[in-house]
Amino acid sequence: MKRKNMAVASLALLLTITGCTNQSISQSDTASFTESASQEKTGQEAASQEVAKRDIFAMDTYMTISVFGENGEQAADAAETEILRLDALLSTGDEDSEISALNRQGGGSLSEDASVLMERSLEIAKSTNGAFNPAIYPLMELWGFPSGSYHVPDEAELAEAKARTDMNLLSYDAASKALSFGREDMAIDFGGIAKGYTSSRIMEIFREQGIESAMINLGGNVQVLGNKPDGSAWRVAIQSPDEETQYLGILEISDKAVITSGGYERYFEEDGVRYHHIIDPATGRPANSGLTSVTIVSSDGTLADGLSTSLFIMGRDEAIAYWRAHRDEFDAILLDENQKLWITENIADLFSSDLETEVIR
Ligand code: AMP
Ligand code: MG
Repeated sequence: MKRKNMAVASLALLLTITGCTNQSISQSDTASFTESASQEKTGQEAASQEVAKRDIFAMDTYMTISVFGENGEQAADAAETEILRLDALLSTGDEDSEISALNRQGGGSLSEDASVLMERSLEIAKSTNGAFNPAIYPLMELWGFPSGSYHVPDEAELAEAKARTDMNLLSYDAASKALSFGREDMAIDFGGIAKGYTSSRIMEIFREQGIESAMINLGGNVQVLGNKPDGSAWRVAIQSPDEETQYLGILEISDKAVITSGGYERYFEEDGVRYHHIIDPATGRPANSGLTSVTIVSSDGTLADGLSTSLFIMGRDEAIAYWRAHRDEFDAILLDENQKLWITENIADLFSSDLETEVIR
């Protein structure tokens, strides 16, 4: 058995390209950009390209923040404070978090952040026909992901836990922000959406502080503000599920969240079988849809995160149908088990990859 989310997260640190101009990606490229941005430029240009950086471990993953221009240090501090605040509020593993308290008490009155997450989760759950399920926690616990005491359940155990993830038993009143569980052994988990919500919140903070150029990477989930300081688009490397390949391709993008879900992020192995952390609510088992990675690109980070999890569960054909019905809201890059990429047409020209790629129209 192994748990490898830490290793993957540190790889993700190397994979976000903040400014290199060629396709080769390495830690030194990232570093050299930072140096050239802060050392080679002079006068006003240098001031506008000054970068404030933070490396943080939170939400069980490594995160980096890069903020450019005036007020960057102050904005980076505010981003760090926001990450720690939301981590303390939303963590299912922290007994003192709001979510843990709600789960212990069988519901309660939600904070502003939790209410936004609940509303967005229910919205995404509805539109994805229940692929996204914020009440998934009993199944996460059954498989042992929160504790690390992994366990492959039998049919009876699966049926029992599945009954406790029935979303029809959740009642939520948006006006009073009151959540109640139809049975007390239910539990919610915003793990499928929390990082996207966090990156969206940080972008709001940056905008309020007058920041025009920034990039954050929350364990491989990237959101960028504006363009790079030199005015060109950000170049974001899409993480590969395969340890041999460094990245799937490069996406050139401005003002967007680029959020990836894959079974490789957290898993254990037993008797040669790999069991990962994205659970198909219909079966109670790790999703086995034929997709190995799903990246969602959207200006709405919360949506991008919710949909990366959902489309990974749906599989290629259903994911494509979903995109066709919601094409104004997001774009997607899907990787199937034959190492073939599928990319929606609006971003196809912004993406470069060595892999065979088919455009979804
Ligand atoms: P992500 O990396 O965004 O795909 O999120 C994976 C996390 O979402 C898991 O670690 C769980 O906390 C949670 N999760 C797993 N399955 C589901 C599901 N079907 N719906 C909503 N959240 C899920
Ligand atoms: Mg997600």
